[in-house]
Amino acid sequence: MNIVVQKYGGTSVGSVDKIKAVADKIIKKRAEGFQVVVIVSAMGKTTDELLSLAKAISDTPDPREMDMLLTTGEQVAISLLSMALISKGHSAVSFTGHQLNIQTTSLHQKARIKDISISRVIEAFEDNKIVVVAGFQGVTDNHEYTTLGRGGSDTSAVALAAKLGARCEIYTDVEGIYTMDPRKLTKARKINKISYAEMMEMASLGAGVMHYRAVEMANKYKIPLYVASTFSEEPGTIIQFEGEDSMEETVITGMASNLEDIQVTVINLPSSTGNLYRLFGQLADREVNVDMISHMITEDGKMYVSFTIPKEDLSIAEDIISNWQQEIPEIKWEINKNIAKISVVGLGMRTHSGVAAGVFKIMAENNIEIKMVTTSEIKITWVVDSCLEEKVITLIGKGFGLVTVE
Ligand code: ADP
Ligand code: ASP
Ligand code: MG
Repeated sequence: MNIVVQKYGGTSVGSVDKIKAVADKIIKKRAEGFQVVVIVSAMGKTTDELLSLAKAISDTPDPREMDMLLTTGEQVAISLLSMALISKGHSAVSFTGHQLNIQTTSLHQKARIKDISISRVIEAFEDNKIVVVAGFQGVTDNHEYTTLGRGGSDTSAVALAAKLGARCEIYTDVEGIYTMDPRKLTKARKINKISYAEMMEMASLGAGVMHYRAVEMANKYKIPLYVASTFSEEPGTIIQFEGEDSMEETVITGMASNLEDIQVTVINLPSSTGNLYRLFGQLADREVNVDMISHMITEDGKMYVSFTIPKEDLSIAEDIISNWQQEIPEIKWEINKNIAKISVVGLGMRTHSGVAAGVFKIMAENNIEIKMVTTSEIKITWVVDSCLEEKVITLIGKGFGLVTVE
């Protein structure tokens, strides 16, 4: 059986007319001889609206009830899409995460998919039905509703594709993966082919076009991924393994930026590896995802430790450090909430030297202060003041050939 999993994001189903257009696109695929499973996100900004309703009730909404609320968004979208398919003369059936037994871990709003039971999908195929599934949601062993984190419908799609041995097509409001978010760099170029490794880096560094775990899972289970526009027939982006087919011959494939982190600097810590372990061990115990770290030892045996964490984890970091300050009063800390983390990503960095130098040259020529830097085999990330984000993106876009040439 030739199965394809298609995922349509929130903007793609943002209105009744768009839902009807998506139905036509699905019908076209069906007419090509495919069994189609469709994963849908909540309509338009529904999830944001549900979140603000919850925040209007409480600053710290109960996590279980939050998932009870958030899962309603996708349920509206699947039923409407299914109705649209039926009204156009096709058999279709919609399923929630619970109905398909999309089993997840129990951490509300950050759950991970453990398994999916596909028996109802197969039964629906036998009845010649198009299957429409709610993205972003699952259920625990105790039948509690969970969600997978913002943007998680991509991961629902890849997980179903993995389970069905199908290819996965992600349809969204842009024509594919670009060298940089086209909302932040209007002249960004569309990339025809990108490797899983580069796409994983881009997704984790702020390219919100794909949920990080979706790319990770597609890489792990070798699921062919294709990202394209819901609203046009232009070819999109193929995500593939390195060396599978020729890629573009560029050193830097793309760029990403992220305004979601803060920089914490701890001053006057007694210098020891044990203290580094204590600090980062306690952050890890409380599930804080630390990204960049730098530390410096002063002549009088003290450490300055600087690190970046997501904004929402600030109170945890402050709690940990202030407890420590009660033991050692000279410990101090500073928080910088106005940072932008900019990254360039490219497999070409493995074989080409001088990329970091190129970044520093552009920053130096424009008097831009770099507050922190980290590198890995295929990426360089650096922190600048958030008010310089746009300027840096434009300079790097031009400097590294990430923009369209007129
Ligand atoms: P959907 O609702 O379809 O899941 P998202 O908003 O999650 O859509 O993802 C699409 C958006 O991702 C685009 O509108 C674009 O602004 C943003 N984006 C961020 N980085 C990139 C990138 N490198 N290439 C394309 N789009 C990107
Ligand atoms: N509706 C969810 C969100 O807005 C899931 C998704 O769009 O993938 O985050
Ligand atoms: Mg998305």
